[in-house]
Amino acid sequence: MKNIKYDVIVLGSGALGLTVAIGSVLSGKKVLLVEKNKSGGECTWNGCIPSKAFISLVNKNYSGDVLERVREIQEEVYLNENPEKLEKMGIVFLKGKGFFVSENQIQVGEDVYEGKKIIIATGTSPSTPKIPGLDTIKYLNNENFFKMKKIPRSITFIGGGVISLELAFPLKKLGVEVTILEVSPTLFSREDEEIGVYYEEKLKKEGIKLYLGVGALKLESSPMGVKISSEEKNLMIESEEIFLSTGRVPNIEDLKLENAKIKYDRNGIIVDKYLRTTSPNVLSGGDVVGPYRFSHMAGYHGEVIVRNLLFPLIKKSVDYTSVPWTVFSNPEFSRTGLTKKETKEKYSEYTIYKLDKSENDRSLSTSEEYFNLEIIVDKNERILGASCIGDRSGEIISTIQFLKSKKIPLYKFADSIQAYPTYGVSLRNLAKKSYINHLTKYLKFFKKN
Ligand SMILES: Cc1cc2nc3c(=O)[nH]c(=O)nc-3n(C[C@H](O)[C@H](O)[C@H](O)COP(=O)(O)OP(=O)(O)OC[C@H]3O[C@@H](n4cnc5c(N)ncnc54)[C@H](O)[C@@H]3O)c2cc1C
Repeated sequence: MKNIKYDVIVLGSGALGLTVAIGSVLSGKKVLLVEKNKSGGECTWNGCIPSKAFISLVNKNYSGDVLERVREIQEEVYLNENPEKLEKMGIVFLKGKGFFVSENQIQVGEDVYEGKKIIIATGTSPSTPKIPGLDTIKYLNNENFFKMKKIPRSITFIGGGVISLELAFPLKKLGVEVTILEVSPTLFSREDEEIGVYYEEKLKKEGIKLYLGVGALKLESSPMGVKISSEEKNLMIESEEIFLSTGRVPNIEDLKLENAKIKYDRNGIIVDKYLRTTSPNVLSGGDVVGPYRFSHMAGYHGEVIVRNLLFPLIKKSVDYTSVPWTVFSNPEFSRTGLTKKETKEKYSEYTIYKLDKSENDRSLSTSEEYFNLEIIVDKNERILGASCIGDRSGEIISTIQFLKSKKIPLYKFADSIQAYPTYGVSLRNLAKKSYINHLTKYLKFFKKN
């Protein structure tokens, strides 16, 4: 049994683990990175990369084997984060499952490693709901979908969240009969109502069957594959495959957290605003902590952790006032900040600027099917929230997110020249409305005084 000492031990090599390990080694720390699977985590192997590659290949009418190409793309990404690359940077990479022996010791296999700081970056796994019959059938989830040999003829998604809304459209385009069953009465239940309504109509238009408010289900194997029934809704569907997409569970079960006095609940590891756990030298973040389970948030947590390891006396706390995200559906949906409903609850004075396809030359010139951008500002024209449905909404929200996070009033964007006909010009046109409002308020103020 070895006992080797490190400055930083990182458990898990997803977006968080890689950010912390690379950031720490670059700042001169001795780093051990422990990973039970291949480095890269959920994003590279079962999440962002394969799903976005799949969507893009189908949209570009890729003529070869789409799933095979997805796996090639994963290997291309892996070249930037494989153990050889990490070891070249000076990180010690250890393949194995780690667990806590004490507050500063991790065991992997027979060996125990001591760390001045230990970072839990173990992410989440797909949850397995208690559905009668589930144990008698084969099912898909994000872990085995991209490893399939061939695309099935029909697929039923149980759960109408982001994963289903991203994969349903490309599957339909490939000729698959797609059904989505969702327990809530609406899609995008945390968004303003019209967002869910838009996607309900869009699914219908594309021939994707959607059943909302479908709770209790029963599953049985059938000659076609699986029979899914809901007595309550008098519903019976048969499809070749089912895809479970009913949420995520934190990967904490095997970590023996009690050995390090680390508290957790059903959502994951409990941390303070500096991402410290209840054990003084153990920090955590990313999906195993939440609340925002995105790669960019795991990366952000990683940056906060590295900074606080380097400058412990001037610690940075996490700030969730400006969190953007994109659902890569068809079309994309993106958001940053407050919804209209949340704004109404918190602010008495605000303005909503809207831009649809008819006023957007980029959308018109590219025959974009639908475009809708809404930006909410406070009385000083500072952005409170924005949502966008459109082909490239993620890129548009990126600019809005910059203005929002830097607290730059929307009208300032009117002052920058943008190339025509990009979305930049469309956003600038909206910013001009904000400029006029700002000017009007300014002139009124001077008239009064
Ligand atoms: C289908 C899908 C699509 C997604 N698309 C997007 C997207 O487009 N954009 C976006 O921002 N986010 C997306 N996400 C979310 C994104 O994948 C996660 O937010 C991100 O991977 C979280 O990073 P993490 O480092 O916290 O955890 P993970 O990436 O889950 O990494 C955890 C790592 O820890 C390892 N591990 C676990 N336990 C142990 C142990 N005991 N010892 C050693 N190693 C261990 C695991 O093997 C894993 O490699 C998607 C997720 C899914 C499922």
